[in-house]
Amino acid sequence: MTNGNDITNDEMREQLVEKMRAEEKQRQSGYRELALKLFPHVCGRCGREFEGKKLKELTVHHRDHNHDYNPQDGRNWELLCIYCHDHEHTRSIQNQRSTEATSQNNQPSLVHSPFAQLQSKLKVD
Ligand SMILES: [Zn+2]
Ligand SMILES: [Zn+2]
Repeated sequence: MTNGNDITNDEMREQLVEKMRAEEKQRQSGYRELALKLFPHVCGRCGREFEGKKLKELTVHHRDHNHDYNPQDGRNWELLCIYCHDHEHTRSIQNQRSTEATSQNNQPSLVHSPFAQLQSKLKVD
């Protein structure tokens, strides 16, 4: 039996990301309701409309990527469908990587990155 201790680092990382995604979903549920009241139910990128069951696919994106900055007038929020939202974050990580490559000592703060917490968690564990 090879069950047990053969979890690779990659798998651990994946599990951590999954866990953080789930936590973020929970956190989102509070301001999501409000954002859905404030804005039309349309994705800010692809322009698709979401109603009924489909509304689940519409998520709240933070314009400055700081998920703790939630002004109640919605100025930091943008409604994006899960696909465009994913794309938005993938793109910003890629941007960050290329910035890091060019200026390693002078990299921008990771505070606004949704993955900043992940980084510190990985260090702690
Ligand atoms: Zn979209
Ligand atoms: Zn986002």
